[in-house]
Amino acid sequence: MSGIYIHIPFCKQACHYCDFHFSTSMGKKETMIAALIKELELRRDEAADKEIETIYFGGGTPSVLRIDELNGLIEAVYANYRVASNPEITLEANPDDLSRSKLIALSESKLNRLSIGIQSFDDKDLKLMNRAHSAVEAERSLALATRYFENISIDLIYGIPGMSVEQWEANIAKALSFDIPHISSYALTVEPKTALANFIKKGLINNVDDEQSQVHFYKLCDTLEENGFENYEISNFARPGFYSKNNTAYWQQKRYIGIGPSAHSFDGIRRSWNVSNNPKYIIAIEKEVLPMETEVLSIRDRYNEYVMTGLRTVWGVSFSKVEADFGGKYKDYLQKQAERYLKEGLLHGQDNKLFTTKKGRFLADGIVSDLFMVNLG
Ligand code: SF4
Repeated sequence: MSGIYIHIPFCKQACHYCDFHFSTSMGKKETMIAALIKELELRRDEAADKEIETIYFGGGTPSVLRIDELNGLIEAVYANYRVASNPEITLEANPDDLSRSKLIALSESKLNRLSIGIQSFDDKDLKLMNRAHSAVEAERSLALATRYFENISIDLIYGIPGMSVEQWEANIAKALSFDIPHISSYALTVEPKTALANFIKKGLINNVDDEQSQVHFYKLCDTLEENGFENYEISNFARPGFYSKNNTAYWQQKRYIGIGPSAHSFDGIRRSWNVSNNPKYIIAIEKEVLPMETEVLSIRDRYNEYVMTGLRTVWGVSFSKVEADFGGKYKDYLQKQAERYLKEGLLHGQDNKLFTTKKGRFLADGIVSDLFMVNLG
């Protein structure tokens, strides 16, 4: 199993909280697309022995591309890789790009899944985050999207300064009213050097409040679970049969090829990442040089990644896998470190596996860091 991720590094405007790699200048869009196609060609041998089961357009904002540009990229994947017969092909899209004609064209392409960056159905939140769309556009685009796509995910952000529990409940209820099968939802986090961090520093916006975020998170879990969603990864909720195959592959340490500036790749042993700079990326690819840095993961790195992703997901962390893949000292260490959290009811054990309990879910990142191996090689 292999996946291809294609990073489209353009956005119409910068959201205040965002630290992803993107440019708001579209001047080099055509040149960038040619470079992405070239990188797909240059790396075709990396998946020579594997079928591509997922293709994911992320960003940035992939929906700023025209349909012919997206189709050109999909064709380049098919021309250079062995693609499975029913791959999951996802486009991240922003509501302001989803006109009826665009949605019809997207639904007639090979794309079969949309991940729509709604973030909130409330204009006050959207303004605070500097999103390019309004609440009306969020609703209109989602209503239209459900007419042309069955497999739709939306993103929602909670823990926004000033957001009451009632406002968050209204957002969740609005999302549910569209009867979509997948929701990804994240607490607003303040990344260094973002506009949001600057506004908070200047006292223009209140800081995010962890307790408020925690209340929002559990409201989300309860409401979505009551409505037939499974919280299969801390931030991801799906109706049966609608887990994201692309994200599941990341969480299960499957291989993937990341194309485009800032994109990451994993081949089972090595992690690589492309330069996060559009001009440098284009110049290197035009010279047929991959602008990539690589690190070989140590056993400790792989153990830490497995524990981190396992505890965030319904698949948990298997003691037998830890012993088989990393050795007895890792299994013993995990057992010892987990004891305290098992006693506190933040972790639970079943079938020789460890899982976070509902109570531990919001605190998973802190728990995980205590289970990380830091001393042994
Ligand atoms: S649209 Fe997405 S990638 Fe672009 S600035 Fe906003 S959050 Fe970041």
